[in-house]
Amino acid sequence: MVSDAIKKQLCAIVGAENVLDADLDRFGYSYDSSFVPLIPPNKPDLVVRPMTTAEVAAVMALAHANTIPVTPRGAASGRTGGCIPLAGGISLALDRMTRILEIDEQNMLVTAEPGVRTIDLYNACAAKDLFYPPDPASWKFSTIGGNVAENAGGMRAVKYGVTNNYVMGLEVVLADGTVINTGGKALKNVTGYNLTGLFTGSEGTLGVITKVLLRLIPMPKMRNTLQLMFPALDNACLTIHKMLQSGVTPAAAELMDQTSIQAVARHRHLVIDPAIEACVVIEIDGEDTESLEKQAHQIEAIAHSFGVAEVRIAASVQEAEDIWSIRRGLSSAIGAMAPNRFGEDISVPRNEFPAVMRRIREVAAKYNLCIAVYGHAGDGNLHPSVLCDLSRPEEAERVHQAIDEIFAAALDAGGTLSGEHGIGITKKGYIANALGNAGVNTLKTIKQSLDPKGILNPGKIW
Ligand SMILES: Cc1cc2nc3c(=O)[nH]c(=O)nc-3n(C[C@H](O)[C@H](O)[C@H](O)COP(=O)(O)OP(=O)(O)OC[C@H]3O[C@@H](n4cnc5c(N)ncnc54)[C@H](O)[C@@H]3O)c2cc1C
Repeated sequence: MVSDAIKKQLCAIVGAENVLDADLDRFGYSYDSSFVPLIPPNKPDLVVRPMTTAEVAAVMALAHANTIPVTPRGAASGRTGGCIPLAGGISLALDRMTRILEIDEQNMLVTAEPGVRTIDLYNACAAKDLFYPPDPASWKFSTIGGNVAENAGGMRAVKYGVTNNYVMGLEVVLADGTVINTGGKALKNVTGYNLTGLFTGSEGTLGVITKVLLRLIPMPKMRNTLQLMFPALDNACLTIHKMLQSGVTPAAAELMDQTSIQAVARHRHLVIDPAIEACVVIEIDGEDTESLEKQAHQIEAIAHSFGVAEVRIAASVQEAEDIWSIRRGLSSAIGAMAPNRFGEDISVPRNEFPAVMRRIREVAAKYNLCIAVYGHAGDGNLHPSVLCDLSRPEEAERVHQAIDEIFAAALDAGGTLSGEHGIGITKKGYIANALGNAGVNTLKTIKQSLDPKGILNPGKIW
């Protein structure tokens, strides 16, 4: 429990109005978008909302001196329970640190505070014709600090990579309040260990990110979107595979299975032929109309060779937006299908994608469960969502067995537990299967050296 004396010192650091301890506030900071049913909820003792790096450093120094757990928090859109304050203590909300500090057009770099929303960062750069490609489906509400902490991916990863491909440097407050800067504006930099890489994806367990320096690229001049409807799921997977092999690299290639398509249809009052087993949404980009048309025709021809039922090539920006809004709204549509949902995030080598999709269908049949599968098919990252009602204990048991098998299928295929959502609470029971005990011990050694008292985001990853 955080004492009144400590609370007083925190109020002196960030202002009393930025230290919340009403029960309702504490409840509000006890969950994220993982829907992990923690009963009773893990409320923080206090919520602290700093506005500057100096304030974060002072909060951390105080927490360190008094061994108080601190859990950093962005927008709480995380899918693995990362910002849930498992050990109580302080929920450190970065949502007041929302300034874009510099867009360096000459070097094509942007510097921002961690609480900037991903879409705001994208738009600010786009206004200067610069492109920040990582676009998690949550970009309208996720923060850039949370994206770096989770090494978030997105739809465009297939062509442009994920967050860590753009992080050039960070300002990080360590567990004891020390402020360090990693990386920098120089494109080539091998001075010491790659600390930028270490903190990217560290899930708030190694330090608090207070500034991010991100690389930008020129904005592609043109984009277009295609929607392909397939009567056979396997053929949808094969189309994506063939397309990539043939040298067409789309900016995005997203796949939705039949359960996912019908969930969206119900949610948005659309009528979609129940015989359609898979929908693929593809974004292509380029410098001119000719290159876009060429890519679109190549994709269309490949899709026809695999028996596509319908090809829709967006004829306007609005039509492209309509197609994408179906994909972006998918998560909510699936969430509305059942009282509980376990959304997983396995990632497999691209050639294994169809086999793993089939394996998940078998798992669904074996355990008599509804599992919707969608994902970033272009880069082998699948999101199987197990839909269930945990108030039925017998069903809960089947769900856990099915999830065990899904993770085993990913690892057997040479893949991994998480492509973009991180480990947090929900996957920590499986991490030794993926990394081995020696691998997990190496993570623990790094953690021990940076946070010897274990105050930063305790209870996560292992
Ligand atoms: C509908 C929906 C769609 C999604 N789609 C995608 C997707 O396409 N791709 C994808 O990758 N993810 C996706 N996500 C997951 C989520 O949006 C990302 O993980 C995102 O990066 C989390 O950002 P956040 O600001 O909400 O972080 P939070 O959820 O608040 O925190 C996530 C983790 O980061 C840590 N953290 C947050 N800020 C900091 C900081 N400044 N310093 C240190 N640690 C910090 C927290 O402690 C926690 O461990 C989706 C989520 C939802 C709800």
